[in-house]
Amino acid sequence: MLKFILALCAGKCISAAIHILGPILHKNGTHLPGNIALKIDPLFLKHIGKPKTIVAVTGTNGKTTTNNLIIDALEKNGYKVLSNRYGSNVNSGIATALLQGVNLFNRSKFKLGVLEVDERSSLRVYKYVHPDYVVVTNLMRDSLMRNAHPQYIFDIIEQSLPDDCTMILNADDLLSNRLKLNNERVYYGIGHQPGDSAEARNLINDVQICPRCHSKLQYHVLRYNSIGRAVCPHCGLTSPEADVCTMDIDYENRVLTMKVSQAPVEFPMISDSTFNIYNETAAVALLDQLGLSHDKIAEAFSTMKVVRSRYREDKVRGIRILSTMTKGWIAPACSAVFDYVSKLPGEKELILYLEDPTDPIFYSELLAYTFETDFEFLNKDNIQRIIVIGKRARDFHLRMLLAGIPKERLAWTETIEGLKRYLKPKYGVDIHILYDLHQAIHYDQILTNVKEAIEEAKL
Ligand SMILES: [Zn+2]
Repeated sequence: MLKFILALCAGKCISAAIHILGPILHKNGTHLPGNIALKIDPLFLKHIGKPKTIVAVTGTNGKTTTNNLIIDALEKNGYKVLSNRYGSNVNSGIATALLQGVNLFNRSKFKLGVLEVDERSSLRVYKYVHPDYVVVTNLMRDSLMRNAHPQYIFDIIEQSLPDDCTMILNADDLLSNRLKLNNERVYYGIGHQPGDSAEARNLINDVQICPRCHSKLQYHVLRYNSIGRAVCPHCGLTSPEADVCTMDIDYENRVLTMKVSQAPVEFPMISDSTFNIYNETAAVALLDQLGLSHDKIAEAFSTMKVVRSRYREDKVRGIRILSTMTKGWIAPACSAVFDYVSKLPGEKELILYLEDPTDPIFYSELLAYTFETDFEFLNKDNIQRIIVIGKRARDFHLRMLLAGIPKERLAWTETIEGLKRYLKPKYGVDIHILYDLHQAIHYDQILTNVKEAIEEAKL
């Protein structure tokens, strides 16, 4: 216990120091107190005081969005929520959040905690931080080097979770919805929609084989990657019916009609992308479990937007510059952004800076990701030009030629300054910047170059 007391005191002191020196230490602020506490007491997560009820949000894509929707809705309804939303989702980040949530007598000041948990941290977290509810968005291909195959991640989560937590699972993901089959479970999903098709739109679908008998699955709806509805012709396994189900999507009036319990309920549509409709449905399923009334959920959602920290819009001389950050190395996430941007109406020019910083050991993985991402979505007539930046720009250029994009629409440059040579700003043509998370440090430089190109252009 002495170790724990030392760890708690050290963590509290470091937290206080970071609070005072905030701007200087900002970068380490979310890891450091928890990291030090875990170094002093490796069982810190076991010993630290915790809220009575804990919700964990996990999955490959969408966990941050879902986590934020849940926390915002709860806070707007007066709940005091302990969370790691401004911090890290690995064990040291969770240790930091819990540490900051207790008083000096190790009593948690919160009744409810909502924690985003990185899938690979499951083994180190759930053993000591017992979740009452676990929301899983989906399990898909992530970085091959970090996460191997999604089935491997499935096994890690399966082994780590307790047998008595309530699972909130995506009915339309036949991998993640089979987690903890003997636990209480609530399925959420999207019901049949007019545009549904069984045709694969993506190159990648990691769930093609029946998780029960290993025969080939037949999909009758495929929305993106492995998200859809399937049946196994051999053993009869089918996608489960959703308990909380978005039945109708009214894009015009931005309303989702969901079946929650029995009666249909209308909720404001927070975002019109399919993956965010799944996230919103997941949030409703969880909030319903926590006992929040449908009216209160709808009211909270009415003032919310999907956290657009990864999106910004500028205008120079009447030309719109739309910037979106995407997660490199994660083909489904990057493909979803390509799909979304390519469907936006109007003429556009695209600037892509998607490679990871240039550490050569990552090169083989970068190539794998390049060929698994659906660059085919960018082969649209209203995408007038695509300029790719980076040391690996020629690889991306080749990939886009293989996607069938006419070569006269493509340009590449190794340096950010080089993009001015190729950018042709025109009235009525939006400029989209899509950049990798790891290139966020270069984003300002890209934006400055784009703005200068517009200023200097003869319009
Ligand atoms: Zn089967």
